[in-house]
Amino acid sequence: MGKINTIQGAIATEQLGITAMHEHIGFGLPGCDLDTKWWEARPKMLEVTIDKLRRFRELGGQTIVDCTGIGTGRNIPYWQVVSQTTGVNIVACTGFVSGDTVLPYFRDKSVEYLADLFYHEITVGIAGTNVKAGAVKVGVSRGGLSELDERVYRAAARAARATGVPILTHLSINGDRQMDLFETEGLPLDRVVIGHSDGAEGLDPERDFRIAKRGAFVGYDTIGFDTEKGTPEVPAPFWARPRKERLDQVMDLFNAGYTNRAIISCDANCWALGWASTEHSVAELLEVFVPDLKARGVSDETIEQLLIHTPAHLLTMKEPKPDRMRKAAAVSTGV
Ligand SMILES: [Zn+2]
Repeated sequence: MGKINTIQGAIATEQLGITAMHEHIGFGLPGCDLDTKWWEARPKMLEVTIDKLRRFRELGGQTIVDCTGIGTGRNIPYWQVVSQTTGVNIVACTGFVSGDTVLPYFRDKSVEYLADLFYHEITVGIAGTNVKAGAVKVGVSRGGLSELDERVYRAAARAARATGVPILTHLSINGDRQMDLFETEGLPLDRVVIGHSDGAEGLDPERDFRIAKRGAFVGYDTIGFDTEKGTPEVPAPFWARPRKERLDQVMDLFNAGYTNRAIISCDANCWALGWASTEHSVAELLEVFVPDLKARGVSDETIEQLLIHTPAHLLTMKEPKPDRMRKAAAVSTGV
């Protein structure tokens, strides 16, 4: 029987249910957790977060993957309260959201050092707890894949190979290079989601097809960041899209038959740590996007694939493939 690491302990694959693969309880730039403003706001933050996840749960949602990496608001004791109160499983990620959010302490570390760090968080626990990460988060810095991003990608691939957890990426810019890095490290692309393919900053439908053809998963995971929601006081962020355009993009891949090579999620911050955010919640995945897909003729079977079977396939830990390849890769890259 397969198993998945959640913050409440390991669960069986069958317990995952409807899963949003890319969400955040609270994401902020490194240092956000030291800003007393957020500690003062904490009761309100908890109330809003619980309301959003309860709504997701009422609509049938059972699990979210929180893609907040090390140092950007990941807070295991707080998440445990949220999970316990709402009944929503939370899968935590090790890794970093992108090179430009890596804390100074980690910036000059080697691939092997970072691989060990991620491996520890998956097999022993996160930040002094015994809560184990169930996925690795990596990402592309603003401006394109940096040398530090590449080190983090290689380290993530080694940790994923050695533990059997999947990798989720932030941004699909340089998507081909991202996949090359994983393959160089011997990680099958079947363990990888190339994320934010639907974000306005990096649209490339041809790349989506290449991701699917190479056997990775296309992350349509900024659903609900709609330009229509922007107001003069709180403008929509630069990655927002008109709702219909996003749907057209997703349908193009589905109509070509790649429904089993995509994930859908909202990348919704339950509570943004440090900026005013347009109204947005993981519940929109089930409340708005799934009805939108159905209105376009997407079958219940495909919806089930997107919400249940593909997440289960990705999150269920595979047989670890330790050390021989990790060592060989370390020699070939000289790190
Ligand atoms: Zn995210």
